Amino acid sequence: MALNTLDYSVLLALAIAVVAYYAKSHFFANDVGSTGFLPTDAGSSRNIVSTVKDNNKNAIVFYGSQTGTAEDYASKLLKELSSKFGLKTMTVDFADYDFDNFDELDPDVLCFFLMATYGEGEPTDNANDFIAWLDDEADTLSNLKYTVFGLGNSTYEFYNAIGKKIDQKLEEKGGERFAEYGEGDDGVGTMDEDYFTWKDKLIDSLKNNLNFEEHEMKYEPSLELSESYLTVDDPSVSLGEPNTKYVLGTSDLTKGPFDNAHPYLAQVKHTQELFNSKSRSCVHAEFDISPSNLRYSTGDHLAVWPSNSNENVETFAKAFGLADKLDDVFELKSLDSTVSLPFHTPITYGAVLRHHLEISGPVSRQLFLAIAGFAPNDATKKSILELGNDKVAFADKIHHHKYNIADALLAVSKGEAWSDVPFEFIIEFVSHLQPRYYSISSSSLSEKTTIHVTAVVEAEEVEDRTISGVVTNLLKNIEIVQNKSSDKPAVTYDLDGPRGKYANFKVPVHIRRSTFKLPTSSSVPVIMIGPGTGVAPFRGFVRERVAQKKNDLKIGPTVLFYGCRNETEDFLYKNEWPEYSKELGSALEIHTAFSRQDPSKKVYVQHKLLEQASKINQLIADGAFIYVCGDASRMARDVQNTLVKILAAERNIDEERAAELVRAFKVQNRYQEDVW
Ligand code: FAD
Repeated sequence: MALNTLDYSVLLALAIAVVAYYAKSHFFANDVGSTGFLPTDAGSSRNIVSTVKDNNKNAIVFYGSQTGTAEDYASKLLKELSSKFGLKTMTVDFADYDFDNFDELDPDVLCFFLMATYGEGEPTDNANDFIAWLDDEADTLSNLKYTVFGLGNSTYEFYNAIGKKIDQKLEEKGGERFAEYGEGDDGVGTMDEDYFTWKDKLIDSLKNNLNFEEHEMKYEPSLELSESYLTVDDPSVSLGEPNTKYVLGTSDLTKGPFDNAHPYLAQVKHTQELFNSKSRSCVHAEFDISPSNLRYSTGDHLAVWPSNSNENVETFAKAFGLADKLDDVFELKSLDSTVSLPFHTPITYGAVLRHHLEISGPVSRQLFLAIAGFAPNDATKKSILELGNDKVAFADKIHHHKYNIADALLAVSKGEAWSDVPFEFIIEFVSHLQPRYYSISSSSLSEKTTIHVTAVVEAEEVEDRTISGVVTNLLKNIEIVQNKSSDKPAVTYDLDGPRGKYANFKVPVHIRRSTFKLPTSSSVPVIMIGPGTGVAPFRGFVRERVAQKKNDLKIGPTVLFYGCRNETEDFLYKNEWPEYSKELGSALEIHTAFSRQDPSKKVYVQHKLLEQASKINQLIADGAFIYVCGDASRMARDVQNTLVKILAAERNIDEERAAELVRAFKVQNRYQEDVW
């Protein structure tokens, strides 16, 4: 059948509509990069060499970041390199590029690698592929001029393993190290100062070895803000939704993939206060994922996306003279094609403060130095520069008081608002909120579509201020409202969220897959050591074994070492363990250590391990898997040392040999840690 003119015009209109539809959905589908930032023009190519060339860059700051710290340092280093040395710098998330032709990089380009180590000496998710490429595929990299800063935690055995590895690998591949390797230690709380030390040496190398001229640091924005004619009611304006899809509602938000760029709004169906204490709190929360296609497996982590408390938003707004502008709308434009927009715009100022910026944590010396140029008066400028340049005075006058950014700036300016600070500066220099991780305390076998977490609420009074953790107090607020509890919250939140989208206790979450897993066979013995909230994944493991038993599987010895202060105050899930014992019978054994029950004697899980030395040795001989979860600062190392002692004594070998055995168990995945 022939088509007439009308048919053709209808077909043409349809074709245009289809193209427009796909163009639009493609645009919106890509609204967030792997970091949650909007894509840049640069981001549209995965070719790192051509991106650098096309954008006329001569310095790249690569970051391997899991919790946002390395990414944060990367953007600050970019500012400093650009401002002090005029280097045309870009930051690079490894996940956004391929590296096949990395050896073709122009030799004049300087590469800075900021590499965090995650868990047991593992790379961060975004650096995984780059490291695999470096290990297996990379040829010589003789064009490469590089330096590396590792971000790690010395309480972990493989301290800064990734920073060290990258530094060494790049050298092996023929790269030229133009400034010394440096590393920072979160374990002893010196990350910021360690970074400063490395950066100062780096600046010396740039000046002395590469003959760069240093200029006074001056803020040059990479973003341009313009006030919008739109009002807060306009549907295209973000009120703090996690990303563009949530603002515009253009796609089915129950379908994944869900990750750190796109969360699922899970309803918290049930909460419970687990402690019996006036001063401490621990919330059990159950997230319903049944309406979504989000799934987890026992031992995974739930990432909970935070928003800031009303009190912290208010103080921050006051400190920057923004109190009257919270509902005003602005748009952002990137002035550099390699700098991505950090969130959907148009957006309100209030939404940025509440949902996007990390405003409540400790302030850094680096921020003091960068912000000095916008001080409200000369005396304040002088004071802030003195503090920024003097680590001892900074520690004494700022850090010691646990000031957040707003508290600190108001303390230095004696209450005068910092109204001259451009909002672009705030967006570029204040860290962006990152999800907090929780070891899932349910079992995907018994609770397929519900995720349980067990979170100790972080809150303390310092001087006349409340220092509070962002996510744990949000969960506590939900618990109080949901259960009509008489507990008083340390801080309060807007639980309804942007446009009421979080009403009925919804919270944005995604899942991080973990390697902390039960052995495949349910009959393999397991030894679980988890004091405090370290017991969270073990509740999941035990529930898994209960479900396996109900499925007629044979259950091997399941031995839990749990510790808390005392039996009546903070014994987590005290009423549940007897039920699990009933189900599992003699397969489940629980050894409890109470550190404050008997004032004359502090008992920790390590003591209980020693009491069970011969049993532990026998279980290990029978192929037991060992799991340690909880506090990374001391417990994990003390437990490991105790296990070394047990093996040495029981097997009559020296401790060095026993330590080798433990290391071998780790390599074989028979000794797993989930510590934070
Ligand atoms: P944050 O806002 O991150 O604050 C962190 C700490 O800083 C708090 O103690 C807070 O009081 C303090 N603080 C706030 N402001 C300041 C300031 N201005 N100066 C100084 N200090 C300040 N935790 C659990 O409870 N249960 C778990 O099962 C669990 N599992 C985890 C699993 C993994 C893999 C990881 C990495 C961590 C896990 N954590 C767990 C820890 C958890 O992710 C959070 O770090 C913790 O709950 C605190 O989060 P928050 O948002 O409440 O506090």
